[in-house]
Amino acid sequence: MKIKRKYIAVLLVATMLSGCAARTAQDTVKYTELYESTIFAMDTVMDLQIYGEQSMLDEAEELIFGLERLLSVTNVNSEIYRLNHEGRAELSDDTAKLLEQALELCERTDGALDITIYPAVRAWGFTTGDYRVPDSGELAEILENVDYTGVSLEGTSAALPDGMEVDLGSVAKGYTSTSVLDMLRAKGVTSALLNLGGNVHALGSKPDGSVWRVGVRDPESSEMIGAVEIRNEAVITSGGYERYFEQDGVTYWHIIDPSTAAPARSGLVSVSIISENGTLADAFSTALFVMGLDDAAEFWRESDDFEAIFVTEDDKLYITEGLEDSFTPLGRFEDERVEVLRRD
Ligand code: ADP
Ligand code: MG
Repeated sequence: MKIKRKYIAVLLVATMLSGCAARTAQDTVKYTELYESTIFAMDTVMDLQIYGEQSMLDEAEELIFGLERLLSVTNVNSEIYRLNHEGRAELSDDTAKLLEQALELCERTDGALDITIYPAVRAWGFTTGDYRVPDSGELAEILENVDYTGVSLEGTSAALPDGMEVDLGSVAKGYTSTSVLDMLRAKGVTSALLNLGGNVHALGSKPDGSVWRVGVRDPESSEMIGAVEIRNEAVITSGGYERYFEQDGVTYWHIIDPSTAAPARSGLVSVSIISENGTLADAFSTALFVMGLDDAAEFWRESDDFEAIFVTEDDKLYITEGLEDSFTPLGRFEDERVEVLRRD
C-alpha cells in the first residue's frame, strides 16, 4: 500500500512537471492484460508473462528462438559453432554485441569468468552427460587453450587461435532476457516478468505498481532460501548442485575454475546476483561462485551495479547491504541469522 502511494506521487510530480510527462503517466497504465506462455529453449523451460498484446508475446518467443539459433554451441548452423569449428566467423550484430559484452565481463572479473572454458566443460562430460574425471595431464593440456584474451573481435569479425573454443552459456540467458525486455519497453510495455530456467528478470513493477516478489532457490533442495522484491531487475542464480555428478564420494559440478580447468571449489554452493543488467547478473553469478566469498565480497565493494546473495558450504547465508530491505529469508534460513556484507 505504501509503495503504491509512492508510485502515485511520482506520477503526480511527473504530471505537474510538463505535458509530456503527463502523457508518459498515461502510458504507464496502457497495458493491463496478461499474456503468458511456457516454452523450451536454450536447454531449459522458460515462462514469459507480459502485460501487453498477443503479438508482443509472439515476438518475444521469436526473439528467444532466434538468439538460441545464433548462440548454441551444439547446433551446427549456429554462429558460435562456426566460429569454434572454422576458427573465424563473420557474426551477426547480436552475436558480436554479446561476445563483446562477455569479453568485457571476463576482463572485469579478471578471468573468473572465461568464455573459452568450453573444452574443460566438455572434458568433464557436462556437454553430453557422459561424466568423467580427466587426469591432471589432460587438464594441463586443456588449460593451454583457456584464455579469453586470445579471442579476437573486430567489428563483427571474430577469430580464435587454434584449439580455442568459446561458449556463451554463462551469459546467454541474461542477455536474452535483457533483449526481450528492451524490445517490450520500446513498445510501451511497463510490466513483464520472464523466468528463463530460474533466471528471473522483471520489467517495471506489477501493473498495480507493487513490486515483483521473486523466490531464490536453495541449490540443495527444491525449497526457497528467500524472496527478494524487485522492479526493473534481474535475479540470477548459479548453483553447484544445479548440474553435477558424484564419483568416489566427491561431487563435481558444472561451474569450472578457469585457473584449474576443474570444478570451482570455493566454499560457496550458490550465488545470486540482483542487477538491472541481466547479462552482467548472469556473468557475475558464475564468476563470483568461482571467486569464493571473500574475493566476491571485495569485488562487490568495488562495484556499484549489482547486489548479491551467497550460500556457503557450511550453511551460512550472506546478503550485500543493498538487499537489507528487499530480502526475506525463507525455508531453512527463515529462523537463521543472515549476515549482511557492508561497504565499510
Ligand atoms: P546455468 O547456465 O546452468 O544457469 P551458469 O549461468 O552458472 O549456469 O553457467 C554455467 C555454464 O557456463 C556452464 O554450464 C558452462 O558451460 C559455463 N561455465 C562454467 N564455468 C565457467 C566460467 N568460469 N566462465 C565461463 N563460463 C563457464
Ligand atoms: Mg551465469
